[in-house]
Amino acid sequence: MNHTTAKNIKETTGVDIDKCYQCGKCSAGCILADDMDYPPSVIIHMLQTDDQTNNKKILSSESIWLCQNCENCIGRCPMEIDIPKVMDYLRTESVKKKCVSHKAKNQLSFYRSFLDSVRMSGRLSELVMTICYKLRTFNLLQDVKLVPSMLAKGKLKLIPESIKNKKSIKSIFKKTTTSK
Ligand code: SF4
Ligand code: SF4
Repeated sequence: MNHTTAKNIKETTGVDIDKCYQCGKCSAGCILADDMDYPPSVIIHMLQTDDQTNNKKILSSESIWLCQNCENCIGRCPMEIDIPKVMDYLRTESVKKKCVSHKAKNQLSFYRSFLDSVRMSGRLSELVMTICYKLRTFNLLQDVKLVPSMLAKGKLKLIPESIKNKKSIKSIFKKTTTSK
């Protein structure tokens, strides 16, 4: 990000962070705020400062990866600022600029594994996503005891469902994703 942080965010996401007047309601309603290094209202404020050091702190923070896109903050915000969209933007910037927090490595692996699964078949396969995630995190044996009961209950499908027009998925990924 550069000194036109708010402008870049608005152009990319349509969200106008300058509308925020720091009432703090988003942070009060965010169930993860206590676990975040910077709660949502603080992130918005730091972005408003247009300061390179603040931008770097945000892109290297754990907060942007802890956000679950639950949208509680939007519901509470008097200005209806779409913080989850801003968080998506910040995650993408963080990956692009190679400053993902080492504490967020597992969350990043999860995001990438989710996308791998969708990229392969056009649908989310829990099994493919889990295998990709475990290979990335080297947690190969964690939770393995749950697999038989999940298969028996139909929670895991051995053969992933696939859409017919896989070319369209490839083209969407080509247009929208950043390199690994
Ligand atoms: S979308 Fe993210 S920032 Fe907003 S309340 Fe949910 S976890 Fe918190
Ligand atoms: S609730 Fe909205 S206006 Fe209030 S601090 Fe959060 S983003 Fe800003």
